[in-house]
Amino acid sequence: MTCPASIHLTDADVAAYAALPNPVYEVSGGHLCVLSLGHDGNHAAEVQSSVFSDRSYWALWDDGSTDYRIMLLTMCLVTRRRADHTTALCLLYDNHGGEHDWIDEQGGPAF
Ligand SMILES: [Zn+2]
Ligand SMILES: [Zn+2]
Repeated sequence: MTCPASIHLTDADVAAYAALPNPVYEVSGGHLCVLSLGHDGNHAAEVQSSVFSDRSYWALWDDGSTDYRIMLLTMCLVTRRRADHTTALCLLYDNHGGEHDWIDEQGGPAF
């Protein structure tokens, strides 16, 4: 269950972050908060990242606000040990609010 808050990026920001080198994402204007329901602190959505980078650009905004700021943040440093002794990563940024978003639960690539 994720937070229902959303934000809309300006066309200028969409264009700017779509134009970064080695982009991972196609940047879209509308973003939903990716943190868990009832999280602390600001809302957050990942805007862009670069291939091979351990940092991503995140849009952060306060509850009820249509203003946002975009910051380059390192990944969450918390990891989880799996039963097979490999390590699961959290897909969020360092010091995010709410619960960790383990990659195992995304159906995405496993490291
Ligand atoms: Zn939120
Ligand atoms: Zn985390």
